[in-house]
Amino acid sequence: MFGQISIPWNDRRLAAGGAALLVLALVVNGCAEPAPAPDLAERVPGSDRPRLLVLGTVQDGGLPHAGCACSHCERARNDRDDARLIASLAILLPNPREVHLIDATPDLRRQLDRARPHRPSSAAGLDRSPVDGVFLTHAHWGHYTGLGFFGFEAIHARGLPVHCSPTMAEFLALNGPWSQLVEFGNIQLLPFEIGRSIALGQGVSVGPIQVPHRDEYADTVGFVIEGPGRRVLYVPDTDSWPAWTPPLTEMIAGIDVAILDGTFYSADELPGRDVSSIGHPLITDTMDLLERLVRERGLSVYFTHLNHSNPALFAETPARREIESRGFEVLSESQQIPL
Ligand SMILES: [Zn+2]
Ligand SMILES: [Zn+2]
Ligand SMILES: [Zn+2]
Repeated sequence: MFGQISIPWNDRRLAAGGAALLVLALVVNGCAEPAPAPDLAERVPGSDRPRLLVLGTVQDGGLPHAGCACSHCERARNDRDDARLIASLAILLPNPREVHLIDATPDLRRQLDRARPHRPSSAAGLDRSPVDGVFLTHAHWGHYTGLGFFGFEAIHARGLPVHCSPTMAEFLALNGPWSQLVEFGNIQLLPFEIGRSIALGQGVSVGPIQVPHRDEYADTVGFVIEGPGRRVLYVPDTDSWPAWTPPLTEMIAGIDVAILDGTFYSADELPGRDVSSIGHPLITDTMDLLERLVRERGLSVYFTHLNHSNPALFAETPARREIESRGFEVLSESQQIPL
């Protein structure tokens, strides 16, 4: 299932233009080394450069988590500044202005509002094309069900490009209510091939990689988003790193910024549960694995997809201080990362 990755991203840089179903045209890019990255993250908008906008940073249940009265969820419920949206990114292109989503979450309405200043609509009323495309990682609740907002009962979009794996495309095309989006022409499914990038223009491409994860309905992917100056790996949801072939440390060669699954902080977070059964890498394990690359190569690592139980959710906590003292960061809502 996982093992057909043939791209060390610093060696082969393939870009594919894809408009037709199941047909992706390949174009081999030049192999210039990416420019050094003096500024690791910008939290203020820059308008002249492709960049990522963080639309959400927590696990599928949200924060406050649906139906939960734990101390973290009560804190987020009482102070909306502490609330977070479900993990998602937007790729912002400056000229012409385009917005491409990575994942379509149940928080999509608010996430479209967050991206809207970067792609103002000329229409006075309902904008039926609020984004230019969507890339999906997998068929779990928090990652694709926001597609429903593009359907007949809401935006009623016209031919929105949805890039996903062939098994994900098959799942959406054959199962309601998603199949109705296809039948009504609200979305256009564009299956990609693992390891072959999709060129968005303006020097930006998106390359899918296979990710080991619970695959009940479809397989799971992560993305390498490559811009003119930086290569970002986005893996919000994965099994723990020993399941990766090739190993993460090999995959991450040539990556400047890694935004990784930080669902759980440590084994202490889930008393009474066998760590090996958690099905996600622990933040503490990821730091052990990557700390040398962070310190010696300047790799920038952010954690996302935090569970509501995660002690690193909030600033000024011991867990957050430990993360930052080791050179890592927790991804912030609305943060921007230049590409
Ligand atoms: Zn998830
Ligand atoms: Zn909770
Ligand atoms: Zn998942």
